[in-house]
Amino acid sequence: MNFGGFVPLSTVDWRGRAVCTVFFRGCPVRCSYCHNRSIQEGEDLRDVKEVEEMIRSSKLLVSGVVFSGGEPTMQPEPLATLMAASREMGLAVGLQTNGIFPRVLHRLVGEYLVDRIALDVKARWERYDSLLKEKYSHAVQESLAFCQESVEAGTLAECEVVVTLFRGYEDEVPHIARAAGKLDLVLQQGVEGMVPPLTAAELKKVGERLKRPVKVRTREEGEVLHCG
Ligand code: SF4
Repeated sequence: MNFGGFVPLSTVDWRGRAVCTVFFRGCPVRCSYCHNRSIQEGEDLRDVKEVEEMIRSSKLLVSGVVFSGGEPTMQPEPLATLMAASREMGLAVGLQTNGIFPRVLHRLVGEYLVDRIALDVKARWERYDSLLKEKYSHAVQESLAFCQESVEAGTLAECEVVVTLFRGYEDEVPHIARAAGKLDLVLQQGVEGMVPPLTAAELKKVGERLKRPVKVRTREEGEVLHCG
């Protein structure tokens, strides 16, 4: 696999669980604000067995593993293999994805390899493709619809829609919240360049206008659930 990194113990990637996190290198979306820009491209090829051993070495510390990136679903074979190996170790399996490869999500959920998906939704659908400079909106909509169906059917235990929100883009949120439907909604503080990030209180206000439960995630306060 094209390897991006490994964190043996994390308490921020899956609230309520200690997990280890595997980063897959490479993401075609290339957001300017990406926190993991150093692994958006490049190559560090590793044997899947080597990464499996990294997960195994964390087994006594954690109850789950999160696959992140980069975009893990860009590498479906190593991802599925590592998810299956994690399952065999008795670990819960989480995935952080931008949703541009819905067929891979179908496969992973269909094979009962994943317990939790955190799906990035970056803008209202009408603005998606111009923002990302590629035609991704249909793929992400398909991923979102599939996650909603899977949660309803009970084949996916948990799914949250994650919005990385920047000052000046607060009006996007009601559109995304409508699209998220009954899935958990996270407003995450976006940080880019010289624009001051929205504070926890400002994000809470954006959430309150939605009249629904919202999780607000900031550097100052971590994750706080507001019940709407
Ligand atoms: S989609 Fe996610 S991983 Fe890819 S560039 Fe954007 S923020 Fe980074």
